[in-house]
Amino acid sequence: MQQKADIILKGGTVLTMDREERILGRADIAILDGEIRYIGDNALSLYNASTIIDCTGRVVMPGLINAHTHLPMSLVRGIADDLRLDVWLYGYIFPVEKNFVNKEFCRWGSLLSALEMIKSGTTCFVDMYYYEDVIAGAASELGMRGICGETVLKFPSPDAISYDIGFKYARAFIEEWHGHRLITPAIAPHAPYTCTPDILKEARKIAEDYNIPVLIHVSETAFEVENARKEWGMSPVEYLDNLGLFEAKTIAAHCVHINEKDMKILAEHRVGVAHNPTSNLKLASGIAPVARMIENGIDVAIGTDGAGSNNDHDIIEEMRLTALLPKGILYNPTVVPAKKVVQMATIEGARAIGLDQVIGSVEVGKRADLITIDLSGVHNIPQYNILSDSIYSRIVYAAKSSDVNDVIIDGKVIMLDKKILTMDEDYILKHIESLSGEITAFMHKRESSLVDKLLAIGGIEWKETFEVQVKTRVDGPVNIDEIISNENIKLIRKSTRDQFDTYLLFNNSTAKIRYREDEVTENGKLIETIYTLTLVDRAYEKEFPNFVLLSGSCFSSIADKSLRFYREYFQPDRIFEINKKRKRFRILYKGIDFAVNVDEITNPKDGGYFIEVKSRTWSENDAIKKAALISELIQLFRLSEQNLLKDDYTELFLDK
Ligand SMILES: [Zn+2]
Repeated sequence: MQQKADIILKGGTVLTMDREERILGRADIAILDGEIRYIGDNALSLYNASTIIDCTGRVVMPGLINAHTHLPMSLVRGIADDLRLDVWLYGYIFPVEKNFVNKEFCRWGSLLSALEMIKSGTTCFVDMYYYEDVIAGAASELGMRGICGETVLKFPSPDAISYDIGFKYARAFIEEWHGHRLITPAIAPHAPYTCTPDILKEARKIAEDYNIPVLIHVSETAFEVENARKEWGMSPVEYLDNLGLFEAKTIAAHCVHINEKDMKILAEHRVGVAHNPTSNLKLASGIAPVARMIENGIDVAIGTDGAGSNNDHDIIEEMRLTALLPKGILYNPTVVPAKKVVQMATIEGARAIGLDQVIGSVEVGKRADLITIDLSGVHNIPQYNILSDSIYSRIVYAAKSSDVNDVIIDGKVIMLDKKILTMDEDYILKHIESLSGEITAFMHKRESSLVDKLLAIGGIEWKETFEVQVKTRVDGPVNIDEIISNENIKLIRKSTRDQFDTYLLFNNSTAKIRYREDEVTENGKLIETIYTLTLVDRAYEKEFPNFVLLSGSCFSSIADKSLRFYREYFQPDRIFEINKKRKRFRILYKGIDFAVNVDEITNPKDGGYFIEVKSRTWSENDAIKKAALISELIQLFRLSEQNLLKDDYTELFLDK
């Protein structure tokens, strides 16, 4: 008598990825209630199934595992490429995330990523992002299996203004999804450097309370490791180990810059590593020592990372890089062979993420997460089987993700003959189009305005609109200390500075951006260096007999990133430097605030000596009142009214 089955996969070449590494030619697989019930010949005579899929000529294998990604980030795919990590992150990704990441963004971005993953043969993913409940919802709606890690970090995030609230959100999410058929909820402290020790300890506690994994980025860049050694006197891996994080099942993404000692720790605690070759290459983070990790007995899985840094979720492409990169850097073609890589994307990947009891191989009793791949494309012809591992080579070195034909997850047919059955693809794509339209409009507006671009990187202060200014050239060094002691003048502060100004100038904009390194000295000794970034956009200037009235927008901020960052981010058409020694006096004259600068221009060489009197205000009327006082100050400082200059230093020295 025939037994009942839901699906029979008939006549495929079955790559079991089981312990014996069996490859079965023309075998059948019977699936019931989401589970693999039978692997062998003649399933049709043993089972009565409602769905029969003819797999003749195709490979049937475990679904591929993408061990590290950020699903919603497919919405920022290709928004800005070929940039340094800080420019990419602070200049593009953070501003878009700040403005757009909400539940809707996460839902549609996740649906798009899930769609892409299914089409390229991925059946299980490991995600770290915000609004993870929405991501879990979207992915499971399409029928994907996943580990969804709610991100916590010390900074405010899109779904939590503090990490206490982040943990609350995470606990609620974990409780809601715990025990779900497809989704394993997880806790995801972002990285050692973005978390406090308290966050990491709490993450471990939550992981132990619910018996769920911890997901974290570890040792992604050399810079991160350098800083860890400076701050904690040890590597990020040692640091996390010291905090006891690895007592919980941990999946560590990247591990690009780890040493032998780190590897021993990771292996000992059975920390699964998610290797993301494309992302590491694209962001120029480096190449992870995968061959050594494997030799050290670490379970290494393969991931794509988010589509912001990849830019796709094509795990077959990652498999190829996983096989090729170690060969190239070690000058050894025998390391990390194709079979090993297929294992990493299936059974070993499952072990790395803690799901090897459930998925990762084609074995009776396991959940039916299976894909079929058509290896008959011209790029895979002819098919030699002279060596026993040829089939793995065909998958790793020649197959394309578009060769994936059918996808079954948890016993449900998700894609049949390249057609998604669980959701209307066009419906998803239409929503993506409208969302990406909104993002485009936002970016265009920002790209076209230096002010918006400056505001996007944060920490900006809007300065008073009006400035009254007199400037005059003097013959040589002047000492105004005596004048400052006039009874009408109250000295508030006096300082000596070496100022190194770099101006970023633009052909199509009147705005200038000034990056200033201000070395404050006292008796010739450096006491402080202040870095500021100022954007000045003059709307108009009015020349009066003895002063200039300037107006326009002026924004200023502490420059917490390097000059190199600003140069790459703003992409000026010209760069111009002016250096000077400045004596700066903040004074009150008849109760009104003025700055008096006595400058010696040192670059350009022999630039000369100048005295400037300045004051800023929000009101034009007030500015004109101040101008009257400036006239009096000019008399006091015995400056000749004929020599007054209206140009600023860039105008005086540019092209000279
Ligand atoms: Zn990541």
